Parts: sequence; structure tokens; C-alpha cells
Amino acid sequence: MRPRVTLVNPPYPINPHQHMPFPQLGLGYLAAVLEENQYEVDVIDCQALYINYDEFKREISKRQPDIVGLTSITLTYKSALHLAKIVKELHPNCLTVLGGPHATFWDEEALQECPHLDVVVRKEGEYTLLELVQRLEAGKSFHDVQGITCRKDGKIVVNPDRPYIENLDELPYPARHLWPLESLRKVEDVFYLTTSRGCTSWCEFCEAVRMFGRRFRMRSPKNVVDEIEYLYKTYDATQFTFCDDAFTVDKSRIEELCAEILKRNLKIIWNCGTRVDMVTKELLIKMKEAGCVSVWFGVESGSQEVLDEMQKGISTDQTVRTVGLVRELGLQPVPNVLLGFPGETKETAWKTIKFVEKLCPDTIAFFNIATPLPGTPLYDRVKENGWLRITDFNLYDCNTPIFETPTLSMKELEELYEKAFQRFYLRPTYILRMWAKGWTYGLSATRNAFRYLLRAIKFTLRNL
Ligand code: SF4
Repeated sequence: MRPRVTLVNPPYPINPHQHMPFPQLGLGYLAAVLEENQYEVDVIDCQALYINYDEFKREISKRQPDIVGLTSITLTYKSALHLAKIVKELHPNCLTVLGGPHATFWDEEALQECPHLDVVVRKEGEYTLLELVQRLEAGKSFHDVQGITCRKDGKIVVNPDRPYIENLDELPYPARHLWPLESLRKVEDVFYLTTSRGCTSWCEFCEAVRMFGRRFRMRSPKNVVDEIEYLYKTYDATQFTFCDDAFTVDKSRIEELCAEILKRNLKIIWNCGTRVDMVTKELLIKMKEAGCVSVWFGVESGSQEVLDEMQKGISTDQTVRTVGLVRELGLQPVPNVLLGFPGETKETAWKTIKFVEKLCPDTIAFFNIATPLPGTPLYDRVKENGWLRITDFNLYDCNTPIFETPTLSMKELEELYEKAFQRFYLRPTYILRMWAKGWTYGLSATRNAFRYLLRAIKFTLRNL
């Protein structure tokens, strides 16, 4: 009998900051490859459907899966293990598989910590999961499948990595028809897609590049625009986010992609994320003509010393120049900021907070707390120096201090993080500028201001 597969995106833990649910492209690709090979597959997205453990139990008890594939980031790792336990209790013969960035670098630990978990799929999972399913169907052992860590004869075996997929065009489009698209579109009517894997940089806090490799692998512009056109025609999709780690590594590819969007007369708007050293004025102009409205940048810090500690490979001058250019061309820059990296002091953090205010006086900004994710040099450094204070992965939400260094305590970092939001969103000039851009911007800025005011009051009361 053909094995049946259920793929699961686990719920967020209850207390920490919960991110908005967004479509799991990873699960979408896994499902698409299985469907292409005529396997029966379905998806339970606990985040998009706001499903808790009890509801998951009800959902999975309605099914008879032979394999349950769970994905997780560090924040949802414990939640994924809990779901594996539920699956095994209800379907003891079902093979439980865990993939995603956290498990990739926490594979042996995951199997040690969770007797209900059978296999960890490391790094890119499409063909590894397919091979697992095929082995199961053929009644063969799966213990030597490339790219997995599993138990064999009571021992944990770590098989060699599977080589990365060279030609990304050969992958089918993510199986979006299996997602709760209606719920997702209610939250945000944006279609996510990815056009590349990997990154040529090597930032010390980044797990993505360690997961997908330092060689930048790309889909062809035609293949990407075919997908956009398909979504445009099938779902009336007009808003897109390219969630590549660094969209513009190859500028000529993006120029071609923009030309292709224009050639096909697709009336769409989109945003993307990239590095400040990977765009030029010419490229940004072409991106804007093809519907780009905003660009996310890993600004990270306003202190050159901290940027160098991160091995970010950019200068603050580059950031000022590029963000200025983006604004001048009428695109919206969105800075991503990282506070609390080793080497950070109160002074450098304040420098960053002021830097971002000046950089983006009338856009949004995202502040994060440096979080040592397993697999990154940051994690190793924090561990080796004895700085790690929080080991509960349920708190690794990038909003909670996890470690402290001799130059910055967790308490100081928490205060700075709160101040960063307050300073940014409670500036009267910011609110006025946003109203000047239009009532939707003004309203959203005013709402944000109230939210952060409330948060500031709560924070003060908590720390009295
Ligand atoms: S540029 Fe971005 S994706 Fe690339 S290594 Fe740095 S943080 Fe990761």
C-alpha cells in the first residue's frame, strides 16, 4: 500500500511572543514533491489554524498516516516533540520525522530527548523525505538514507549529508492547495515565494546559510515568473513576498526577472529582503518598475564594531547610502535590527537605536534580540564563554534575552529592547510624518503608538 503522509507545522508555545502565521514554504515543497510522485499527503498547519495540542490530537486521530513529518524552528521545537508524542500514542506504527533548521543542528539531541521521534531529516528535506517514503513503501530499511539521523540497534546514527539540489527549477511549486489558504489570506493577502537557496555571506548569528549552504543556488527568472503568473491566474494573487535570504545576490538575474514580469504585464506589487551591499540604483529602479514597493535590509547595528563582531561584512556608511537611495526612489526600506550581540554595550545599543530612527524616520523597523540558535557560531561562542542563561527553547522568540556578556546584562538588554520600540514608535514626528503619507499609514502609526505605550506601562509596572 502507498504510504500516507501528514505534514505538520506545530503551534507556537503559549507565552512567548507569537509571530503572525505565514505559509510554510518548506512544507509546501515537501508536499509537492510527494504529490508529484503520486503519494497521498495532507498538511496540518497548527499556526495558521490556531490549533492547540488538544485540537491537533483530534485532527490526527481522524487520519491514519504512515508517516508524520513535523517541521520546526527553535521556538517550536518543544512543541514539535510534543506532537510526536501525541502521534505515537494514537498511531504507534506511524514513523515520526522531524525536519527544519533547528533539528538539522540538534539532531542527535532531539532523538535523545524524544523517544517518540524516529528520524531527523537534516538540511534540504525534499528528496530525503521522498526516499524515506519510498523505502517504507518497498518494505526496506531506511537506516542508510542520506541526510538523516536515526536510531539503529539502540544507537543513534548520523548519515552523511545529502548533496544540495543543484537545479531548483526541477522542484514543483509548493503545494499551496493543501494549505488553509483562506485563513492565511485573511491575516495577510500576500503570497510568499522563494527564488533561491543559500547565501554568499556568513554572518555569525545566521542559521539559514548553514542550513542551505554558502553557494547561492537560483531558480531561473522564467521559472519564478511562471509561478507568479500561475498564482496570479489561479488565485488572483497580486501581492507577493520573496522570502529569499538575500534576493539580489545575482543582480543580472533580478534584472531579468523584473523584465519578465513587465513583459507578461503582471500587475503585481512585491517586497523582498537583501543586503545593503547587494543593490545598485539601476537595479532598484528596475525593481520598482516591476512592482517592488519595499525592501527589507539586515541593518543589524549602527555600530561598526558590533557589525564587525557579527561578521556582517557591511559598513554603516553603506547602510546609510543604500537606505537613502531606496527612500529617494520612493521605495520603502524596512530595517531589521539585532540588539545584544556579543560586544554590544549600552552605548552601542543606543547608537543603533538613534541610527535607525535617523535612517528610517517614516517607515517601520523591526528590532530583535540576538538569539543563539544551535548551529551558529553565536551559539558556540555563547556556550563556550559560559554566557548562556536560558536553555528553554520555548523562550527563543528573538524578543527575550537568552544570554549575557561581560559588557551587557540581560536586564539591561531587556530595557534597551523596550526602549528601542518606544523611542521609534512613540516619536510625535514619526506619527505626524505617517499621517502626512495618508490616513492608512497615520492610523496604523497611531495604533502602534498606543500599543507600545501600553507595553511601556506594563513593562514599567512589572519592573517597579
Ligand atoms: S546576509 Fe542574511 S542570509 Fe546571508 S548569512 Fe547574513 S544574515 Fe544570513
